[in-house]
Amino acid sequence: MILVRSGLMVPAHDAPAIVDGAVAVSGETIGDIGTYEELAARYPDAQVMGGDQFLLIPGLINGHGHGRGLSSFQRGALDNTLESWIWDTRKSKPLPVYDDVSYCAAKLLKSGVTTTMHNHILTGAFPPEQEFYDAIRAYKDAGMRVLFCPGIRNDNPLVYGDNKGFFASLPEHVQAALSSPPPLSAEDYFIKVRALHSNYHSPMCRIGLGPIGPQWCTKDLLQEIRRTARELEAPIHIHSLESVLQKIHGLTALGKSHIRFMEDIGFLGPEVVLAHGVWVTEDDIRLIAETGAGVTHQPSSNLRLRSGIAPVFRMLQAGIRVGLGLDGQGINDNDDFVQEMKLCHLLHRIPSLELNSPHLSARQVFKMATETNASLLGFGPAIGRLEPGRCADLVLLDFKKMRYPYTDPAHDPIDVLLHRGSGAHVHTVMVSGRVIVEAGKVLTIEEEAIAAHLAEAASRPRIENERKLARAIDELKRHVIRYYGIWPKKVTKELYFRINSRIDGFL
Ligand SMILES: [Zn+2]
Repeated sequence: MILVRSGLMVPAHDAPAIVDGAVAVSGETIGDIGTYEELAARYPDAQVMGGDQFLLIPGLINGHGHGRGLSSFQRGALDNTLESWIWDTRKSKPLPVYDDVSYCAAKLLKSGVTTTMHNHILTGAFPPEQEFYDAIRAYKDAGMRVLFCPGIRNDNPLVYGDNKGFFASLPEHVQAALSSPPPLSAEDYFIKVRALHSNYHSPMCRIGLGPIGPQWCTKDLLQEIRRTARELEAPIHIHSLESVLQKIHGLTALGKSHIRFMEDIGFLGPEVVLAHGVWVTEDDIRLIAETGAGVTHQPSSNLRLRSGIAPVFRMLQAGIRVGLGLDGQGINDNDDFVQEMKLCHLLHRIPSLELNSPHLSARQVFKMATETNASLLGFGPAIGRLEPGRCADLVLLDFKKMRYPYTDPAHDPIDVLLHRGSGAHVHTVMVSGRVIVEAGKVLTIEEEAIAAHLAEAASRPRIENERKLARAIDELKRHVIRYYGIWPKKVTKELYFRINSRIDGFL
């Protein structure tokens, strides 16, 4: 038995703070919670860790990511609109997956994340099963909990819409550079997902399905994914309505919103999690709420890729489970999940003439980052709260440092965390009863050695084929920009963006 001791403990988003709170950890689970005095009397032989300078909270959960150790910016892609930026990311040299994911896991763990969702987008440089295996092994070796969703796309490889016509309009040398087959067929995808599920499904690793987006998957593929997910009782994570061009694609090519389209083909349901949802309408919000699907919000990513601001508060008011994710695009490019919580909190402070009108509270953000994400990632009641019987996933933050030299003790500690905290305050992280981070250092990962491998792999000169591809992509981008350049004309109403506005009748 281990007693984890704190000066203040917040066991869950809806629980009051407990002064001198402590958790009794028995093996991999939480055996008891209470004040330190109570637990010390109950378990006199227990080993004690922590102390009264710490804030103790449940392990944080990253609701959406791709396991990238080096960010897309570090690898050469300057932030821009999604449909332009995505091509720049494809010019990056492939990195060894194990090292990349390990480094990402280290960054997340150091900011208090004990569970993450990993949507794996294949690099194409290695056999798919090797990439999947290396990524899962990286989390296992790190001692981090993961929902692993292998990615798949089989439609609209170049632009949303008429790809044949678009491809035919490209110069021949650009066509030649882009004609390599997709790394994984839809048929092989299901074989690999089932194999991953039977080999790796465990309390530390769940296997989900990761269709990259409704515009990037055929209807048949989406329907097969839904059937497989039901059979395996696995979550589905899909990017949806991240950009305004995706919204226009739905309205013009399909005659309806992507959300309505997914509902019409029987895809939406409680296992489905929509990443982003920036461009949803009131009708979409109603539909998501009715079907029980969830949404993850990636505020930094949405700002950096010029996607906009999702109507998170409105979705929460409609009863939708909205979680929070980093998407590997944190505001400081460092995957600091505490900062992401802070940004989420600040972005949804809706302007109002009513001085005390409702807006997103720090406790609601805390719920998104803990219990809601636990549900969206398919771990349900196993994690997300410090409660007897749940997994012993917890974080001690240096509260003394966070409040230095003085912060009014009347504030709720979660308000203090979101006003003054950052990943730098994370001191100890425990996952499944095992200490993974101690004094801010990850014990399970040789961070410096892995960083050196990554720097070496990223800095080598491009080989001839890579140079050719990079040149072709630069040329392709000009055609992509031209293709979408006429799209605003497809929109009948004025196209504008109003932060946090109600969006009835918009577009
Ligand atoms: Zn993503």
